[in-house]
Amino acid sequence: FTSETYPEIKRDPKFAQISEDHVRFFKELLGKDSAVIDGVTKDATDDIEPFNGDWMRKYRGHTKLVLKPGSTEEVSKVLKYCNDNMLAVVPQGGNSGLVGGSVPVFDEIVINMSRMNQIRSFDDVSGTLVADAGCILETTDNFLAEKGYIFPLDLGAKGSCHIGGNVATNAGGLRLLRYGSLHGSVLGIEAVLPDGTIVDDLSKLRKNNTGYDLKQLFIGAEGTIGIITAISVHCPQRSKAINVAFFGLESFEKVQQAFKEAKGQLSEILSAFELMDRPSQGLVKKVTDNKEPLESEYPFYCLIETSGSNSEHDNEKLETFLEYVMENEIVSDGVVAQDETQVRSLWGWREGIPECLGHWGGVYKYDVSIPLSELYDLVNETREKIEAAGLKGDNDSFPVVDVVGYGHMGDSNLHLNVAVRRYDKAVEKVLEPFVYEWIAKRSGSISAEHGLGLAKKNYIGYSRSDNMIGLMKQIKNLYDPNGIMNPYKYI
Ligand code: FAD
Repeated sequence: FTSETYPEIKRDPKFAQISEDHVRFFKELLGKDSAVIDGVTKDATDDIEPFNGDWMRKYRGHTKLVLKPGSTEEVSKVLKYCNDNMLAVVPQGGNSGLVGGSVPVFDEIVINMSRMNQIRSFDDVSGTLVADAGCILETTDNFLAEKGYIFPLDLGAKGSCHIGGNVATNAGGLRLLRYGSLHGSVLGIEAVLPDGTIVDDLSKLRKNNTGYDLKQLFIGAEGTIGIITAISVHCPQRSKAINVAFFGLESFEKVQQAFKEAKGQLSEILSAFELMDRPSQGLVKKVTDNKEPLESEYPFYCLIETSGSNSEHDNEKLETFLEYVMENEIVSDGVVAQDETQVRSLWGWREGIPECLGHWGGVYKYDVSIPLSELYDLVNETREKIEAAGLKGDNDSFPVVDVVGYGHMGDSNLHLNVAVRRYDKAVEKVLEPFVYEWIAKRSGSISAEHGLGLAKKNYIGYSRSDNMIGLMKQIKNLYDPNGIMNPYKYI
């Protein structure tokens, strides 16, 4: 998608066009290696495109300038200048977002946070980490692993996403079931408002009832009210004993039973419960050609992870659970990882889905929260509609490869994905507003964890009342009165 794909979005004429004077200012401020420029001055570089396109190759902007500030003070000076000169900006972390929030729509300046990548402090008694927003999640987690701790969030894009981007999107990920939402584990935030004000709220305290908890506004704000420059986060001890089991199940009813039993029997050691349907696993198989964990095919698969402090205790619990679910025919077949390599390999069948689905060209992604009992009905009904419209087939004349469902079952969070050979209006017409209306009828959320960005901006009303949207707009106007922060998106 480009701005041309959204004819209703017009470039707001209140924003200035980037000029040579602006570029000169930024170069003097940041140094010449901290700007990627295309088309404004003669020292154009050709490597600006990665900053204009997203991970899914779905959204494409037209920025001519990418800035990479190296400190909070630099971010403050950059934003103040942009605000004073009415230059629109897009904060960018690892650019792994899935709703088009991290790339410009028109020529907004990209403020890329990759140079702010230092761990500031770590307290190995409380587990409090303070780090720059541009630290990559996996690097941060590796740092913590050496100290016996873990970052309270994990997701498939860990090798590229930034912890600041994670907080800006309030990412959920694979272990929310265990460690809860970032709204709970983030203790403090340092951020910069568009007028250059540094919001200095990098608290390390777990308890602090002294006034409004303003940091919460930045968690999930997707760069619309300010730029997060650092976070303070409470990290749990890393579990010594990790077990992963992978099951095949005959129906979604059985998946629900297995989940209920897992919660009851594995309780405090259960750290992930992930769902995958057969079509999703079939596509991973087609792309990777890896040997599947189970001999036979099943309509549903679950991945269960336990993590605790005592492997003997955990193994005993897991074995009792496995016996129970097999004897009671809740689970048809299963396998337990025997070593670290197998743990990674089993996780690969879940974590590899997003990448494999993109193999044919593109993916329509819906990341939704629905009451568990109806979670998979949405996939069945969507598939029926796509088939009835004659859009799904095995060769290039059909745009749709398959309709699949997977996700964070433990959080009632389904990823309904439609893998396509090309983005196609006929497919979109079947999907929208059908999917959103379906979710609204069940009081679900049209965006469980990926956010609104550009993709869902027009649909927020399916999950939020006019009253709530009005209050959000007041906050946006208060923090960003000129509207320079990530325009055309969110609300
Ligand atoms: P970006 O994509 O760069 O930006 C995302 C948004 O945050 C944009 O609106 C941007 O403007 C804003 N932003 C970025 N940095 C800052 C900052 N410092 N200050 C203010 N605003 C900022 N998401 C989940 O929630 N759960 C998952 O399980 C999950 N799995 C994924 C698996 C794969 C393979 C991929 C590609 C993505 C997945 N995602 C998942 C989505 C994505 O990884 C997350 O949204 C992630 O948190 C984005 O971080 P980022 O640094 O890449 O941010």
